[in-house]
Amino acid sequence: MSLYRRAANHAWRMVAVLALAVLLVVVVDRIYGHSTIAFAAAILLLIIANTPMLRFNCTRCGKNVFFRGVFVVLWPNRICTRCGEDIDDQLPKNVGG
Ligand SMILES: [Zn+2]
Repeated sequence: MSLYRRAANHAWRMVAVLALAVLLVVVVDRIYGHSTIAFAAAILLLIIANTPMLRFNCTRCGKNVFFRGVFVVLWPNRICTRCGEDIDDQLPKNVGG
């Protein structure tokens, strides 16, 4: 599986965790009333769930595939923004010519 595919899978996992975090806040809000603790827990959950993101780096230059310049986005780059490496295809291209 290519780096892009794994990074995209991680992005989908984050969507699921985000839905879970929103659900947590809404449920706590309905049962106990407005709670900043539930909100903080949801944020913490998102940060912890997102830590594997830091491992998805370009195989050629090491740039993180979730970064667009200085901005972090939810979806990974298919082409590296720094060196132009095709992240969806880790096999070397134009081998022998
Ligand atoms: Zn690169």
